[in-house]
Amino acid sequence: MRSSYTSTNCGRRRTLVASAPHPEAVDGDLAFIVLRIENYQHIVFAYGKDAGVAIHAEFCSRIINQLNDGYPFHGAVYAGGESDVEVEIWGILEDSHLDRYNIAMLNALCEQIAMSSFTWKRHVLHVAISASFVSEQEVGRSARALGHAREALAAAPIIGEPPQSNPVWAQSYRHDMEVAAKLLADLDRGEIVLSWQPICHAEDSEAVLYHEGLARGIDASGQYYCPTEAIQSLERLGLIRIFDQRMVLNVLAELQAYPSVRLGVNISARSAVLDRWWDEIRARLAADPGLASRLIIEITETAPPGAIADVRAFMGEMRRLGCRFALDDFGTGYASIQHLLTLSPDIVKIASIFLRAGDRGQRGAAVLAHLEGLARALAPTVVVEGVETEAQSGLARALGLVWQQGYGLGPPSSARPWAAARRNGRCLRETDGDLPAPFQWEVGFLNA
Ligand code: C2E
Ligand code: MG
Ligand code: MG
Repeated sequence: MRSSYTSTNCGRRRTLVASAPHPEAVDGDLAFIVLRIENYQHIVFAYGKDAGVAIHAEFCSRIINQLNDGYPFHGAVYAGGESDVEVEIWGILEDSHLDRYNIAMLNALCEQIAMSSFTWKRHVLHVAISASFVSEQEVGRSARALGHAREALAAAPIIGEPPQSNPVWAQSYRHDMEVAAKLLADLDRGEIVLSWQPICHAEDSEAVLYHEGLARGIDASGQYYCPTEAIQSLERLGLIRIFDQRMVLNVLAELQAYPSVRLGVNISARSAVLDRWWDEIRARLAADPGLASRLIIEITETAPPGAIADVRAFMGEMRRLGCRFALDDFGTGYASIQHLLTLSPDIVKIASIFLRAGDRGQRGAAVLAHLEGLARALAPTVVVEGVETEAQSGLARALGLVWQQGYGLGPPSSARPWAAARRNGRCLRETDGDLPAPFQWEVGFLNA
């Protein structure tokens, strides 16, 4: 069924795009999803206004198709301005309370749309979506529920970089989109996997703090490649969250299968925003604290200025669930020391460039020594990255940096030593080192 008329709700014009047959009585049985195409303006600047309009229309029709196909609820889809889509849904089980099951389904719906590509002329595009869900049962009658959903969406931070109206920016945006679309297609086909690299004790070759999962693509000849540039494109485009969450889910599956291993996962600071997209992962962690206590989340200190409060809120919640955090590539990001103090990471990982510089001369060695002191003041455990040679390992050891990661100690590998250990009836020897137990380390001892 398809019709088109405008109505006002909460004083705002919206256009009905499509609707499933409405049941007779829907009192107390409505919920609202408000979705925003975060990169609508970017698409307009990079591909033209026609592209924006066409993608918005296609976006609306995909939502209604998805709702009608395989979901136990139905809805009416309204175009709420150029970049927004408002969905009124009914049939949310017996009542409209958005319980975990319903939220998981709505998240899955949004994820399906975010993962599916759009084609405009010869270009393949993805939309970056923000969504908020509110039910009548949560806040009362429909006008208020819709208002709440809109307000929640308006308050949601924009994840990607802002658009610019110039040809150089447009070209680099189109390039990022091309690279990102390929990575997301590979991810969708299950062709992005994790490689594992140990964080080793320099004086005890058997002691491992944890293994870090690093994303790897598989090329046509079956070789692994590092999708680092494509990950950076996803970050700039505001599409990184979906990628990071898939990687976290992969690591959770590994933790679940091997109950003694401790693993790390990288997430972009841009993904570290507590929104409903994390609900499913949070619910899984809450249901099984044994997973959270063995998960180390690595975040690089490249959060855009202003986003640090979001990162802190995210870390607070994930820590409440039992996860621990490593501040990755310390020394290379934009965040001030004051901001980093407020994050109270459990682990600080000194970026590899400082070890290389330390190896080259006195000035570099002095910088490394100062960074080591600073890192130790920020976190109880310090790791140095990029250890390739015995000389570099010795230099770090002389500074007390016993937790080391690098090609010299163990390169990233698809091998999973914990799986091999179990096959041989053994348990991988992991040590707590000076890692604080989950919950013990105070969050935010300085208020920003
Ligand atoms: P990172 O988290 O700091 O990971 C360490 C990087 O250093 C990895 O590069 C690793 O292969 C490389 N490395 C390890 N040992 C040595 C060494 O001895 N020498 C040198 N020169 N390099 C070494 P990779 O895998 O290319 O990853 C690069 C970055 O991409 C990562 O840096 C991380 O920030 C990001 N990344 C990787 N996987 C993910 C992911 O799933 N999500 C997100 N958001 N970012 C990821
Ligand atoms: Mg890392
Ligand atoms: Mg690093």
